Amino acid sequence: MPTRSDIRNVAIVAHVDHGKTTLVDAMLKQAGAFSAHQQVDDRVMDSNDLEREKGITILAKNTAVKYHPKDGGDPITINIIDTPGHADFGGEVERGLSMVDGVVLLVDASEGPLPQTRFVLRKALAAKMPVILCINKVDRPDSRISEVVDETYELFMDLDATEEQIEFPIVYACARDGMASLNRPENGVTPDNDNLQPFFQTILDTIPAPVYEEGHPLQAHVTNLDASNFLGRIALCRVHNGTIRKGQTTTWCRHDGTMEKVRITELLMTDALERKPAEEAGPGDIIAIAGIPEIMIGDTIADAEDPRPLPLITVDEPAISMT
Ligand code: GDP
Repeated sequence: MPTRSDIRNVAIVAHVDHGKTTLVDAMLKQAGAFSAHQQVDDRVMDSNDLEREKGITILAKNTAVKYHPKDGGDPITINIIDTPGHADFGGEVERGLSMVDGVVLLVDASEGPLPQTRFVLRKALAAKMPVILCINKVDRPDSRISEVVDETYELFMDLDATEEQIEFPIVYACARDGMASLNRPENGVTPDNDNLQPFFQTILDTIPAPVYEEGHPLQAHVTNLDASNFLGRIALCRVHNGTIRKGQTTTWCRHDGTMEKVRITELLMTDALERKPAEEAGPGDIIAIAGIPEIMIGDTIADAEDPRPLPLITVDEPAISMT
């Protein structure tokens, strides 16, 4: 099956405070974008002003990092989808994972994998996704890297990971300093590398590029909702097959089985942290669309003449123990 080799869709699963924001921030900086923190602050004002004027710029729930490979190859868009780091009761974990082809499990080098991330990790493993282990904060004086790696192996076995999944690549990082290495550093020592290149390369090598069917009619799955004062309801989708264009007439397949022809009045794609108008998107792309006020999570945007709805995303309620 053909693939979109210029895209990787990945979720970072982490317990709160293990450094997810810091890592994404460093990825954006090294890919040439502004600091995530700074840009968020700036953009709150920016986007309000812009929204008032044009009604197009809105905060994204996903981040797109455009990575330029060291060997000078074509840039690759790494879409990072936000998933809760813990069990949730609304299906957000399943929806987030339905947009990606693999996950990064980010673990604090001192705290190790914590029970709250088990639910999300279990879901990713059950979906047969490849996992990259990223041990962060290796610079911490109280880091215990080998033990944390062993604890992660035990956790994977406990969660019935496949042999392939257990052979996960390991990246050692100090997200705070924007550094990563494939060589295990001494506890408390920052990796002897001056960038995140090994982490980027591991993502490209481990997370499969999105696959699609040649000539298949449009199928885009609604996995999240957002709102803008000017555009109204916005549906976040992953395109699975076909292409979607601004202004195109499509079939809106509701999750209750009914269908209706609708026009895509606005198509947006994320650039760094910001959503920008786009003309066209294809398989594997993460898009936001406007113009369908009552669109719901689980709906499919399909071809006008040959509508084929995607199956519903099944949601498990987590056990009370959150395992
Ligand atoms: P999040 O909740 O997972 O998004 O975590 P943050 O990115 O907000 O980071 C939590 C705290 O860990 C912050 O105080 C960061 O400065 C700190 N932190 C992040 N990465 C590192 C690191 O590599 N080393 C150290 N020592 N601290 C870090």
